[in-house]
Amino acid sequence: MAAPSQESLFRTENSDIPLLAEVIIPVALPQNYTWSVPASMRDQVQIGIRVEVNLGARRRYAGIIKRLHTDKPDFKPKPIIQVLDDHPIVTETQLIFWTWIAQYYLCTEGEVMSAALPTNFKLSSETWLRLLPTYGEDFTALEDAEYLLAEALSIKKQLRISEAQLILQNKQVYSIIHRLVELGIAELVESLQEKYASRLDTFISLHPTYQDETTLADLLNGGLRAPKQLELLLAYLDLKKDNDFITRATLLKRASSTAAPLQALIEKEILIAEKRSVGRITRPEAFVKLDFTLSSYQETALQSIRSQWNQQDVCLIRGVTGSGKTHLYIQLIADAIQQGRQVLYLLPEIALTSQIIRRLQQHFGGGVGVYHSRFSGNERVEIWNEVRSGKIRVMLGARSALFLPFTDLGLIICDEEHDASYKQQDPAPRYHARDAAIYFAARYQAKVLLGSATPSLESFYHAQQGKYGYVELTQRFGAGELPSLQVIDTRAILKEDRTRVSMTPPLMKRMEEVLAQKRQIILFQNRRGYSPYQLCILCGWIPQCEHCDVSLTYHKKSNQLRCHYCGSSYPLVQRCHACGHDQFGQRSFGTERIEEQLQLHFPKARIARMDVDTVKGKQAHDQLIQQFETGEVDILVGTQMVVKGLDFDRVDLVGILDADGLMHFADFRASERAFQLMEQVSGRAGRKQANGQVLVQTSDPEHSILKWVAAHDYIGFYEAELKKRQAFGYPPFSRMIRVLFRYKQQSVVEQAAQAWAKAMGATWQARMIGPAESMIARIRDQYRMEVWLKLPRSAKSIAEAKGKIISSIYQFRKEKSLARVDVVIDVDPVS
Ligand code: ADP
Ligand code: ZN
Ligand code: ZN
Repeated sequence: MAAPSQESLFRTENSDIPLLAEVIIPVALPQNYTWSVPASMRDQVQIGIRVEVNLGARRRYAGIIKRLHTDKPDFKPKPIIQVLDDHPIVTETQLIFWTWIAQYYLCTEGEVMSAALPTNFKLSSETWLRLLPTYGEDFTALEDAEYLLAEALSIKKQLRISEAQLILQNKQVYSIIHRLVELGIAELVESLQEKYASRLDTFISLHPTYQDETTLADLLNGGLRAPKQLELLLAYLDLKKDNDFITRATLLKRASSTAAPLQALIEKEILIAEKRSVGRITRPEAFVKLDFTLSSYQETALQSIRSQWNQQDVCLIRGVTGSGKTHLYIQLIADAIQQGRQVLYLLPEIALTSQIIRRLQQHFGGGVGVYHSRFSGNERVEIWNEVRSGKIRVMLGARSALFLPFTDLGLIICDEEHDASYKQQDPAPRYHARDAAIYFAARYQAKVLLGSATPSLESFYHAQQGKYGYVELTQRFGAGELPSLQVIDTRAILKEDRTRVSMTPPLMKRMEEVLAQKRQIILFQNRRGYSPYQLCILCGWIPQCEHCDVSLTYHKKSNQLRCHYCGSSYPLVQRCHACGHDQFGQRSFGTERIEEQLQLHFPKARIARMDVDTVKGKQAHDQLIQQFETGEVDILVGTQMVVKGLDFDRVDLVGILDADGLMHFADFRASERAFQLMEQVSGRAGRKQANGQVLVQTSDPEHSILKWVAAHDYIGFYEAELKKRQAFGYPPFSRMIRVLFRYKQQSVVEQAAQAWAKAMGATWQARMIGPAESMIARIRDQYRMEVWLKLPRSAKSIAEAKGKIISSIYQFRKEKSLARVDVVIDVDPVS
């Protein structure tokens, strides 16, 4: 007998054949579970909608129906508690994508779901419901159950969903919670740490009555008597000319007013005050405006991309920094929009989105949306729905934007494709957004454009092999030329001055000149040398974290030592634990100290620092970038953050303070990363004029990487590096999978790693590096051992290896003493 069609399964007449639903819930389960669909819900269930189910006696989840079927189960499934949506929130294409990610990156579909859905969609007993202060205390309009929950919330401010379940004693809690969220009484948050995500601010707007011009004119011409109020209102109208949104604080500041006149205007219903989450997406009209002409180089590249897409879906563009890749993207985006299709524009970091969004909005207005993990739950749901309805044509985002419900995706642009931030590290799914994008695009028959000035070795290799199309832009746009690079040998200087100098005299001198010409400077200090250590000047001992095998870094502001891996802090050490000496020096130099030295040397310069300490919120980061763009800052000091594809007009000098820290790493990708970082950071100089300069401080001036960077010779670098990779069988000549074991007892981790390796068998053992201690052998009191598997690139052998990895984990865990060892699998690790 043929299987009944999906359609006919739903019909209530067939209710004698039990209907079952395979449901994905946001938990790491080895496989999806099945629930039965009660007869009363037959008409409501569909693939991609959410249902409330329970797992065990107490835990409740909102899960997504992946499959409906009538296969007889060999157990008695529990019934679905309730259906939560009347139309699918996830498309079937997305579900296929989730399955692929889970299979490729060796994780569960539940983990993918967790990463993919905005919090508001994936309620679980662990989710929190938090009271929003804006609604007020008047709950009289609510129905009984809603009232009960709102009351509880107004007392406790926040409740776990599990607590809400207890309070309501009611099976259908989710619909009540949804009501409260819809009414703006409460919001859902995944964990309480996320608080910052939905910072509220008071926004002021004109009451609708006065949107009408004549009514407003009457008011201004004598209708409003109180001078202070009038002044405030005028200040508001003035601000309104250039700003879509005006906060209470901005307004009061502009009008130099106290709160009283504002309060009066609000009471008179002339102005309205509204609390809203900061950064809420606001979208003006969509349009397409291409008001530039491409240079002849750009035009040739554009035609070439278009024609290569006739044969190949993926095309790589290598365009030197400042060559105008963004303008090509804009043209290609316009093509896709004109064909009525959607575009996904991926960036490796949230930090980059603000500059690019401003550039895209000039050309597409409100047709562009942004999506990333810093948005609040409600905002993310809003964007989700707008992508699903097709209202958003161009989506700009960091890697999580891949999970949006596109209906007709025509193009994915993956900018700065070489960037390691495209790889998710923790938690699973540990996916690489560039690679996943290529798979995802194929589901829509969409084209992919990978762009970079310094392509990853893998992508460039694929292009060379003819697997991807390839286009290059070797010249900067306009009068810009690639900057010249000079190496400063720090050895001689170091000999004279034993306390390491962070800025050598030649660098200082050049900075002085640049400042005198009112031009800008970027100083780059890599993360490794990010903060100073406290160091015994006699024996060199450095204080270590008690919970991790890492050195502690010194934070001047708090006058503490801190572990950057687990966050523990310690008072300063008074006596060396190794030799008893009581004098300490500092080794290395952090951005904080550099900033200080700069202030001493250049008291008149305006200096800003950009690193994880100074740019906590998204706002802070945007502000810094804008300040630098508009010339309010002369010197920008920063870590990796300053490197990435930002476009500044007035930078004449880039200083790379410690190239040694970049070039000397144990990892097989170290050279690639060092080249990319240095070439990228150099790329910030001289973008619009031909006088950009890069000064590199190093104690190894002969290092070959420096030569390639100096010559901006990507190809030279690529060819040399590829030979090395081939000789040692590293990617792109193989695929790597890292298997990490962690546990609180060292001997147990060791046994587990060994037992697992043994279970893998001799053939795979021959392809292993390890088991060996991880580079950092202990983090948060957990010992770490790892194994790297180098696999041949054939799909068959990789599939076999993956199967074996999983079965060997089951195998070693059968040994009771090893069962609790945590295993982390990272497919295609980037570091
Ligand atoms: P890339 O991303 O390749 O480093 P950008 O796209 O940021 O380079 O371009 C560098 C600068 O040149 C930008 O300020 C950009 O506005 C400008 N530019 C590039 N191409 C054009 C063009 N065709 N017309 C006008 N300005 C351009
Ligand atoms: Zn000592
Ligand atoms: Zn620690």
